[in-house]
Amino acid sequence: MARPDFRERLATGKPLVLDGAMGSELQRRGVWVSHGAIEGKLGAWSATAMRDAPDVVRAVHEDYFRAGADIATTNSFWTNSVKLGLVGLGDRAADYTRLAGKIAVDARDRLRPQAYVAGGMAPPHGGLAKVDPVDLPREFSMQAQALRESGVDLLLIEYIGHVDDIVMAIDAVAPTGLPVMVGIREITAAGLMQHGETFDQLMTALGPRTVDAILLMCSSPAAITAGLPRLRRAFAGPIGGYPNIGYDRSTDHFDARHPWHSLDTTTYTPAQLAADASRWLAMGARIVGGCCATTPDHIAALRQAMP
Ligand SMILES: [Zn+2]
Repeated sequence: MARPDFRERLATGKPLVLDGAMGSELQRRGVWVSHGAIEGKLGAWSATAMRDAPDVVRAVHEDYFRAGADIATTNSFWTNSVKLGLVGLGDRAADYTRLAGKIAVDARDRLRPQAYVAGGMAPPHGGLAKVDPVDLPREFSMQAQALRESGVDLLLIEYIGHVDDIVMAIDAVAPTGLPVMVGIREITAAGLMQHGETFDQLMTALGPRTVDAILLMCSSPAAITAGLPRLRRAFAGPIGGYPNIGYDRSTDHFDARHPWHSLDTTTYTPAQLAADASRWLAMGARIVGGCCATTPDHIAALRQAMP
């Protein structure tokens, strides 16, 4: 086998490079990601790329592997029946989720067999929902099963922000038996969870459940720097971060008819990500990568900066 079990690899303590953005990168390459968007709310976003542009999804994975990513996240962020239902594709959710897994696994097997594929999924109502005990467990259960069937090595529950949602998500994907990383969204400037919840509260709520790694994501680099020490004190397992570097869907720039204006104007360079990631490693992070607006160039720079 080309690679050790993901948990064994984590246990070595050696840093892992997570890949960069998928949705904004698809957009940068000309894939239309505004299907189903209404009035400042994202629609199906990158989920429709599984129908419209699977070859571009494949090419993005390939470029991240060439850049040296140790973990690729599948393009299944929102291939759930809620988001795909916005564009009449709700009944294809499991198919597109499986396809997202298969494309990433195939790219890995050809280009970087020592790397891992994380099956990604995000809450079906995005950042707008209150705690969601109905759609979230159902969709995560479906996606986790489909991703397991496609051969992923682990699961990445990401862009999740409520303690109660995280607990439900862990329970929903547990039957797969796969390792699970959690990526917590929109960390505040004070280093807290989006709604002011603390990582200590999260750990108390999780109780005896197994979480293989906790990452801070889709937050500014400064927020990740503020949050990591707090996360380190609350959680003894592997931690990490992957920032959003200038792709703010909550700004007035958002217009569903046009690409996000901020995408081409982010000034956060690959060298800056490499420098911040080095700082995060010194704070105990072991998994670093990029979220919205990061590119293969960012991941290549990050790779170079790894010890
Ligand atoms: Zn993001």
